[in-house]
Amino acid sequence: SVRVRFAPSPTGFVHIGSLRTALYNYLYAKKNNGVYLLRVEDTDRTRLVDGAIESMLTSLKWANISSDEGVCISDKNEITQLGEDGPYIQSERLDIYKKYIDILVEKGHAYYCFCSKERLESLREEQKQRGEDTKYDGHCKSLSKEEIQRRIANGEEYVIRLKMPKNVDIAFDDVVRGRVVINSDTVDDQVLMKSDGFPTYHFAVVVDDHLMKVTHIIRGEEWLTSTPKHVMMYEMFSWEKPTFVHLPNILNADKKKLSKRQGDVAVEDFRKKGYLPEGLINYIALLGWSPEENKEIFSLEELVENFSLERVSSSGGVFDVAKLNWVNAHYIKEYPIEKLVELSVPFVEESGLMTKEDIKNNSKWLYLAMDTIRDRLSYLKQFPDEIKTFLLDNIENVEDEAIQFMKLEHMKTLYEIVKLEIENTDIINAEFVDNLFAKLKEQKIKGKNLFMGLRVVITGQTHGPDIHKSMELMGKQRLLKRLEQTKQ
Ligand code: GLU
Repeated sequence: SVRVRFAPSPTGFVHIGSLRTALYNYLYAKKNNGVYLLRVEDTDRTRLVDGAIESMLTSLKWANISSDEGVCISDKNEITQLGEDGPYIQSERLDIYKKYIDILVEKGHAYYCFCSKERLESLREEQKQRGEDTKYDGHCKSLSKEEIQRRIANGEEYVIRLKMPKNVDIAFDDVVRGRVVINSDTVDDQVLMKSDGFPTYHFAVVVDDHLMKVTHIIRGEEWLTSTPKHVMMYEMFSWEKPTFVHLPNILNADKKKLSKRQGDVAVEDFRKKGYLPEGLINYIALLGWSPEENKEIFSLEELVENFSLERVSSSGGVFDVAKLNWVNAHYIKEYPIEKLVELSVPFVEESGLMTKEDIKNNSKWLYLAMDTIRDRLSYLKQFPDEIKTFLLDNIENVEDEAIQFMKLEHMKTLYEIVKLEIENTDIINAEFVDNLFAKLKEQKIKGKNLFMGLRVVITGQTHGPDIHKSMELMGKQRLLKRLEQTKQ
């Protein structure tokens, strides 16, 4: 049965590209009633970040992509490990790697290397100057057992390297790329065990994917060139190879790999702007996979139903914020309003438009405000800006077009009636506005003259959100103050 894994290194944030990798693994597992496991690859001790695992798992949980096995996060946000093939954090598996590296050395497929950093550095320099690929020269490849023993006993530092055979073609099938063949002479004698006793990624990934019975390796295309090393190790161990699936990069508008310099790339960045997980996931799914049906809005369940590796494309998808906004806006229109308000509260607070206290006492008002303007939102951080006009006693800026409109013949009558009616009411609600419309129609003011006219005297704009609700949101006193500003 299908077993796939997402294997992040704990850098502290989930890149949009990693989110897509996680998502495709998740979708493939769910589609095939398989298992999606999460393994933490933390063998590079120089890159450790405190709290990184927690924050990554929190982001993934927010996106609704939770693991069935391996490192999991509970409802109470506790990190746990589930499953029989653990531990699932590589730094807790050192004895396992030790066991398997000994096997490779024993079989003559790996060797001790005592070369100093200085030697390797000058070797690299020489090769560069000759215009050659930089590669280990095999200096320590044929040390005798005795010499190795002696130098270890001497306390010399060493690494263990993969012994690449000479001039053989290493071949594997990639679901996205097709058949890949690479000659072993172009592949370095990769370090498998470092001098600190930790394995490198390349060794740990092979041992773990085998022991965790991973059937499909779905990951970013930056790992494609490493795959021959991995394939070689599968053969040396006589292990069955998994199926490889290398996903195309996600690109910027300038067709370069999406990177931090160009703006938001972390899931957290999007969350902080008030994108909905459903919107982000839906959009990300389409960056490298195309559905059979000609549609673009997919819930997570629908993605599971429709997903297939065959429809993953080999060319990179361009990350298009406008498209993301369009997809996200769709979900904002469908979300429960209460939920949208709840998610927008931090943005309202941050904007300083309302205090915590105001927010607490005006939940009905916020509900109506959200109902009125949600069609205009791409993400929730825009909410405060959109409701600002309902909260201000003055009109910030009267449009030129509105000034022109105010000169129309009927506007004087309209203005007088609007003012009088508002003065004479206690409450502004839908019924009041309906009556106001009726009064204006009695004066033969109708159509655009009526709608736009009313909007202009109240907002100083010719276009905007629903006028009934806008008036209700502003309330009597504020409307009267605003009317002073549009007096002719
Ligand atoms: N730890 C690697 C990363 O951070 C995973 C690569 C793989 O999936 O094999 O991307």
